[in-house]
Amino acid sequence: MERILVSACLLGSRVRYDGGAKTSDDELLARWRAEGRLVRFCPEVEGGLPVPRPPAEIEGGAGGAAVLAGEARILTPEGDDVTAAFVSGARQALAVAQSRGVRVAILKEGSPSCGSLRIYDGSHRGRTTPGQGVTTALLELNGIRVFGEDRIPEAAQYLASLVRETGDPT
Ligand code: SF4
Repeated sequence: MERILVSACLLGSRVRYDGGAKTSDDELLARWRAEGRLVRFCPEVEGGLPVPRPPAEIEGGAGGAAVLAGEARILTPEGDDVTAAFVSGARQALAVAQSRGVRVAILKEGSPSCGSLRIYDGSHRGRTTPGQGVTTALLELNGIRVFGEDRIPEAAQYLASLVRETGDPT
């Protein structure tokens, strides 16, 4: 059975920086959940950060790949460097995904860990810029495709194409 890694906050876990969740009411996600396909994960909590926590952003909106390459840090509004926790969480997400045979992930858009199309630009002024979070970048570098919660139909199409190619049951 194809398993799908999903941001824990999209499944109702109150793990976001502000102590809340961002529960998705998407029907496909609900069906996959009922089928037992979902692997719930929060990279920031698993990386050792508390709930709640300051809303960190990647310096200069550089993107997750730059963080993984040691070329950008992740900072809180007060300037505290939380890069190590984010990278640790990303590595753990990859390990969990690989151990469960995950090839597709649905992660919360906009997050410095989970964003896939956009992230905050590092100014801490609520401005976004195109880019990926750290976990997304690491997953995609390892062949796992990441979709935001607003692209779940696209994720389903991609999953179906994978299953057609490999013959795995859906
Ligand atoms: Fe949600 Fe990802 Fe942020 Fe955790 S790190 S709260 S899973 S967006």
